[in-house]
Amino acid sequence: MLEIPLKLSYDDVLLVPKKAIVNSRKEISTKTKLTRNILLNIPVVSANMDSVTEFEMAISMARLGGIGIIHRFLTIKDQANQVKIVKRKDNLIIEEPYSVNPIKNLAELKQIMEDKGVNGLLVTDRENKLLGIVTNRDVKFRENDEMLVSELMTPRNRLFTGWEGISLAEAKDIFKISKVEKLPIVNQNNQLVGLITQKDIIKIETHTNATRDDKGRLMVGAAIGTKKEFMKRTDALVEAGVDVLVIDVAHGHAIRVIEVIQEIKNKYPHIEIVAGNIATGEATKELIEAGADGIKIGVGPGSICSTRIVSGAGVPQFSAVNDCAKIAQEYNVPVIADGGIKVSGDISKALAAGASSVMLGSLLAGTDEGPGLMIIKNGDKFKVSRGMASFGAAMGRNYRENKKVDKELEDVVPEGVEAMVRYKGSVKEVIAQLVGGLRSGISYCGSNCIPMMWEKAEFVRISPAGMRESKPHDVTLV
Ligand code: IMP
Repeated sequence: MLEIPLKLSYDDVLLVPKKAIVNSRKEISTKTKLTRNILLNIPVVSANMDSVTEFEMAISMARLGGIGIIHRFLTIKDQANQVKIVKRKDNLIIEEPYSVNPIKNLAELKQIMEDKGVNGLLVTDRENKLLGIVTNRDVKFRENDEMLVSELMTPRNRLFTGWEGISLAEAKDIFKISKVEKLPIVNQNNQLVGLITQKDIIKIETHTNATRDDKGRLMVGAAIGTKKEFMKRTDALVEAGVDVLVIDVAHGHAIRVIEVIQEIKNKYPHIEIVAGNIATGEATKELIEAGADGIKIGVGPGSICSTRIVSGAGVPQFSAVNDCAKIAQEYNVPVIADGGIKVSGDISKALAAGASSVMLGSLLAGTDEGPGLMIIKNGDKFKVSRGMASFGAAMGRNYRENKKVDKELEDVVPEGVEAMVRYKGSVKEVIAQLVGGLRSGISYCGSNCIPMMWEKAEFVRISPAGMRESKPHDVTLV
């Protein structure tokens, strides 16, 4: 007879309440690690799905103290551009600010502004000398597309500028006096070396919890695959300033994934790599020994996933996280519990089981920052959340890559579905609720931080009756 172990899901267990050691949830730290070298203030990562993380989500997640992973179903150029947009947000000094040549015309200028996602550009000559600035205000209501930037811009002699090494306080003083919104930084030869914006200063002072790199820029991750273009994509992402690469493969315990980790580590030893997805201790050990700095766990638990139904493979997520985390802890490598988180209590359970962070898909897809389509059904608002192995996602990729649609799609065996989730407003509010619930969970474990929760957490298994009792029951919800 086969010996078949029982593996559990989040709904199979509860945390045993232990004596609380804090008087208020504010005393609880949610600091954690995403990878060996990346610290987060909240243990939440937005999923590399095309209905969840593009640059808007990545910016919000980093500002809140988590991180976003930009999905890979974009052209290499577009994905790298998205990384650049995040890296340029909220910096005191934007190095190499976007600039435009004075002989471009209005039509070209508008296109550049749209491509770069900015509302103003500095005007420089061939030697990078500052000639002026042109912003939305100069462009609005102008109809003659032939007008030149040099005619539209505010010229150099009317600009306030800063100098190399200017401090935050000095920049604020200039903003107070000048009432301008953008302060170009020039060197002694009037060459453009940076830009400070009022907006960024406000953001820096507002988002004190943000996940920042050692230059003070927001951190961002990006997903890559393992097909032959992977190094080209990696090169572009590294060049764009990506902080962490996530090798995004449904079955991550694979020889090819190990090769890809090794090749990237050889070329870019400083770049952090998260590898996955996997669900066993053996896979954890092999990916870490290949060089992974973080491990992503989850085969089949995702809300939009049909892998377990289609392939028959997978491990219930609570046990998968626990099995993998035990091994990863021996190497001091953090693990990410990816998929299947339905409520804040699941985050507490995933972390208590040994994860250092959780990755969320559908829970975040319904927010303003999710790139999915908005749908209105019977007067209620929804947004799309779709599996990256769904038929719709495959069709989208096919269309984008201009492939012969019918032939290739015949071979697709979807392992994901397309769905709608309720529209939820800003991601900030959703994260506040989730992290509030997690703080409560940490306290119920008699602890005040995530590493202490690992030590002290104790679980009980529950029956279907226990689960029924755990949810609101025998009342009519208003
Ligand atoms: P959720 O938070 O439960 O929605 O799960 C999100 C996770 O599901 C993602 O981070 C992926 O690991 C996984 N996932 C995304 N698309 C697919 C798919 O098409 N099939 C299987 N798993 C998927």
